[in-house]
Amino acid sequence: MRFKDIAGQEVIKKKLINNIRNNRVSHAQLFIGPEGCGKMALALAYVQYLNCMNKTEDDACGSCSSCNKFNKLIHPDLHMFFPVANNKEFTKDVKSSTYITHWREMVLQNPYFNLMQWYSHIGIENKQGIIKADDCNEIIRLMGLKPYESKYKAVIIWMVEKVYHAAAPKLLKILEEPPDNTLFILIAENQQQILKTILSRTQVFKIPQTSEEDVAKYLESEYNCEAQNAGKIAFLTAGNMVDANRMCKEGMDSVDSFKSFSEWMRSCYSFKAAEIFEKIDDFAKYGREKQKNLISYSLKMFRQSLLLSQNITTQSVLRLEGEEKDFLNKFSPYINSDNINEINELFQEAYINIERNANPKILFADLSFKMTKILRAGK
Ligand SMILES: [Zn+2]
Repeated sequence: MRFKDIAGQEVIKKKLINNIRNNRVSHAQLFIGPEGCGKMALALAYVQYLNCMNKTEDDACGSCSSCNKFNKLIHPDLHMFFPVANNKEFTKDVKSSTYITHWREMVLQNPYFNLMQWYSHIGIENKQGIIKADDCNEIIRLMGLKPYESKYKAVIIWMVEKVYHAAAPKLLKILEEPPDNTLFILIAENQQQILKTILSRTQVFKIPQTSEEDVAKYLESEYNCEAQNAGKIAFLTAGNMVDANRMCKEGMDSVDSFKSFSEWMRSCYSFKAAEIFEKIDDFAKYGREKQKNLISYSLKMFRQSLLLSQNITTQSVLRLEGEEKDFLNKFSPYINSDNINEINELFQEAYINIERNANPKILFADLSFKMTKILRAGK
């Protein structure tokens, strides 16, 4: 992974590079940021840069003997840990190394993915993955070894929130006094779920969401996405590269959720049961990805409505045009600070349940009738 492979984040990249150039590499770092900001890709690019034998001012060379191994994630001084659980093939004593081939495959194919996508890649969709005590023991074992080729051994722990609680003290002990030749990079999304003791032992590096502009640029150059579509996807996903990737792959068909959303909300509001059931049937036939896009799009439209109803004009509100703008002008009076939290929760929960293979008819029926109630109460 090189810095140039990562969308935007120029300020962060510069900071990371400067830390290396000024010899200020801290031995335990925590990269924390929202889903789809590229924190794991940044960690990998950082470690590759640190070890590159021909580094330029702003990136690793990509072709020295160290880079060659990092390009395939097989460098002997790169150790990666992540949440896992038993699947059909591996039924006991699983740990990160059990799935290392799957992990490399997933990261190399595209470094922007979330926990659910990882679970689905290794066939554990309906389970909770954890970073096992066995993995923490493995890290302790690694600490006792010298690096093979590089100055540093790099240990990257993805989604450190998922460290098994009974294993956390082991990890803490290592972080307390990491050996000189080791670099720990912990990666996390949710600061509240991380033990304070971990926070206090690491140098915290906050990574913001990628800007919509950078997402659009990346989609155009990496996926040959048309400028107008790239802009639309960046806007809909609010800079989340995991969602942006998914939408790009699905094609614009799934992005054009406006018609579905506006007709759906109209039938909920007018409470015409036949129309509502027709919509539910339509949505149930969509694939899971398209259903998720509809939910993401709906969340975005509710947020825009709230801004409009409160007369707050942000860039994204100003960018609205045509049908979407006309619709929102009429729809926004029904969305307010009293009902937005309930709506958000309903749709976020629906999104998670779609990923967990919930029955789509029941899910969309439930959403529709709850929305009917909410919209009509706000009449
Ligand atoms: Zn190199």
